[in-house]
Amino acid sequence: MPLSIMTKEKMIKKLYERLCLKCNGPLIPESVDTEEGSSRTLRCIMCGEVVDPVILVNRWKRAAA
Ligand SMILES: [Zn+2]
Repeated sequence: MPLSIMTKEKMIKKLYERLCLKCNGPLIPESVDTEEGSSRTLRCIMCGEVVDPVILVNRWKRAAA
């Protein structure tokens, strides 16, 4: 299912269940070091997709504004 037609509610549910938005593979917590410090992301062990919940939430907030 393309991400574009996936509802925000479905994506949030998947994130809570730690499932990849692309392939439904299991997501594992990962720490990434950035210039601002370390940030917590989720990475799919199946397809390697990196999901940053904070970025996703910010994107939804902008879309709703
Ligand atoms: Zn995946």
